[in-house]
Amino acid sequence: MTAQIISGAELAKEKRAQLAKEVERLKREGIEPGLAVILVGDDPASHSYVRGKQKACAEVGIRSTLLTFPATITEEFLLEKIKELNEDPSVHGILVQLPLPKHIDELKVIETISPEKDVDGFHPINVGRMMVGQDAFLPCTPYGILVMVKSIGIDIAGKHVVVVGRSNIVGKPVGQLFLREHATVTYCHSRTNDLASITRQADILIVAVGKARFIGTKHVKQGAVVIDVGVNRLESGKLCGDVNFEEVKEVASYITPVPKGVGPMTITMLLHNTIEAAKKHAHRQVHK
Ligand code: NAP
Repeated sequence: MTAQIISGAELAKEKRAQLAKEVERLKREGIEPGLAVILVGDDPASHSYVRGKQKACAEVGIRSTLLTFPATITEEFLLEKIKELNEDPSVHGILVQLPLPKHIDELKVIETISPEKDVDGFHPINVGRMMVGQDAFLPCTPYGILVMVKSIGIDIAGKHVVVVGRSNIVGKPVGQLFLREHATVTYCHSRTNDLASITRQADILIVAVGKARFIGTKHVKQGAVVIDVGVNRLESGKLCGDVNFEEVKEVASYITPVPKGVGPMTITMLLHNTIEAAKKHAHRQVHK
C-alpha cells in the first residue's frame, strides 16, 4: 500500500483563492486587511519565513508592513513598538517572528500584543479561549493541520490522535484542537517511555519534534494518517521532515510531504486569521 499525499501546497492554493475573493469583497466595503510583521536580528531562516508570509499576503491582497530591527534593540523598545501597532487602526494583525534574541522575553512580547491583533494565536488569552471552546484566533500551524486532516474527509470523532511534541506553538495546541473534534488524544515527548508502542496506536499521528526522519515504520500502524510538521535542513541543504517519508508512505494511508506539506497551510491560516481580525475590527467599529 502506498499512502495518498495530502498536499499542503495544493490545499493552500485553493484556500488562498477563496481568501483573495474575500479580501476583494472587504475592500469594496472599505476594509483593507493589514498585517504588521516584526523581524528582529538577522537569522536567515526567520528572514526566509517572513519573506514567505509577505509574499502570501500580497497574493491575497492583504497589506503587509515589515518592521526590521537589529538584534541589539532593547526589550523595552520592542514592547513600545508593539504598543504603537496596537493603537494603529490600519493594522489588524501583529506578528513577531520568533525566535527573538535571548535578552528579550518572548512571553512578555506575546503578552504585549493586543489579543484582538494576535493573529498567531499565541497570546495566553487566545490560548485560554481556545481551551474553553470560545471564539479565538487559533494558532496557525495546528489550525492548518486540522484543515488538512479534514480535507481528506475522515471522521475525527473517536479516533486516536497521538501527538509527538508538546511545544506551546505546535504540540500542545494541536492536541487541543483535535480534542475539540472529539478525538482521543495522547501526547508524547522526550521523556515518553517506549514511544513506538504508543505511536503505533495512532489512527492519526502528528509529529512535531524537529529531528530529521525520526519517525519510521516501526512507529506507524498500517493505514494511519501521518502529519509531519518537522522542518529540518540536511547537510546537503535539502529540507526534510521528522518522518522518514519514503519508508512510512508504504504503511500510512495518508501522509504529508516536507516541503509543501504543513508549511504552506501554516501561512494560509495566518492570512485567514488576519482577514478575520479585520472583519472583527470593522464589526467593533460599527457597534461602538
Ligand atoms: P520544539 O519547541 O523544539 O519542541 C520539540 C518537541 O519534541 C518537544 O516537546 C520535545 O520534548 C519533543 N522531543 C524531542 N526529542 C524527542 C524524542 N526523542 N522523543 C519524543 N519527543 C521528543 O519544536 P516545535 O517548535 O514544536 O517545532 C517542531 C518542528 O516543527 C521543528 O522542526 C520546527 O521547525 C517545525 N515547525 C514547522 C512549522 C510549519 O509551519 N511547518 C511550524 C512550527 C514548527 P520535550 O518537551 O520533553 O523537550
